[in-house]
Amino acid sequence: LASKDNTNKDTVIRVKDVQFGKEPIVIAGPCAVECEEQIDTIASFLHKNSVPVLRGGAYKPRTSPYSFQGLHEKGLQMLSAAGKKYNLVTVSEAVDEHSLKQVAHYCDIIQIGARNMFNYELLKKVGKFSKPVLLKRGMSATISEFLTAAEYIIKSGNKDVILCERGIRTFENYTRNTLDLSAVAAIRELSHLPVIVDPSHGSGRRSLVTPLAKASLAVGGQGLMIEIHNEPSKALSDGFQSLDFSTFKNLLLELKT
Ligand code: PEP
Ligand code: MN
Repeated sequence: LASKDNTNKDTVIRVKDVQFGKEPIVIAGPCAVECEEQIDTIASFLHKNSVPVLRGGAYKPRTSPYSFQGLHEKGLQMLSAAGKKYNLVTVSEAVDEHSLKQVAHYCDIIQIGARNMFNYELLKKVGKFSKPVLLKRGMSATISEFLTAAEYIIKSGNKDVILCERGIRTFENYTRNTLDLSAVAAIRELSHLPVIVDPSHGSGRRSLVTPLAKASLAVGGQGLMIEIHNEPSKALSDGFQSLDFSTFKNLLLELKT
C-alpha cells in the first residue's frame, strides 16, 4: 500500500489549503507549546511570512523524566486557538491512545514521533482516525521498516500518511542524529507517499539547519519541519536546535532562491 509498485502516481495529501506532495511545504513552530503568549507570537510570525503549518508538542517524549513534559491538553488548546486565529494548519504529537484522541480533536494532522514508529498497536490505532498522519522515522529504523510502519497505518484504514526523515543514530556524535538524505531520495523511488525532512532533530545544531534544509529539497524532499522559537535561549526544550525569527526568515529566502 505504501509502495510505488502498484501505482506510479505520487500521492497528494490535502489538509485545508495545504497540499503535501504537490509543492514544498514548510512546517514550523516550537518544539513544545509553552504558554499562550509564546505560541501566539510564533503563529503570528508564521502567518506574516506565509508559512502554512504550525507545529508544537504538547505530549513531549523527553529523554529525562525531569525535563519539561509538555502542557498536555492545555497545550493542544493553545495550539488550536493560535492555528484558528492565524489560519494555520496545526500538527502535534500523540504518544498513546489518550493523547491520540485529544490530538485528533484539536489538530489537523496527527504526528507519530520517532520513538513510537515501532509501536505497532499505536500505528493500528492512528489508522482508525480520519486525520492525516505525519509519521517520523524511528532513530534505528531501516528504510524498509519505516515504510512498513506506514503500511500498518494505511492497512488499518488511514491512507493519508506523510513520511518524515528526522535523522538516525550512527557512530557520529558531533550531531544529535545523522540526517539520512539518501533515505529521502530512496523513498521517492520506493513510495508514492509524500516525504518531508526535519533537519532540526536531524542535526541538533542550529547552524546546520539551513544548509540541511536546502539539501533536503535538493534530494527530493517535499517539505520541511523546522523548530523555531521567539527566544531560543529560553526554550523549555530543544532551544539549541531552534532558529530565531531572523535566521528562519533568511532560511525561507534561501529556499525561494
Ligand atoms: C518532535 O518533532 O517534536 C520530536 C520529538 O521529534 P522526533 O520524534 O523525531 O524525535
Ligand atoms: Mn524537539
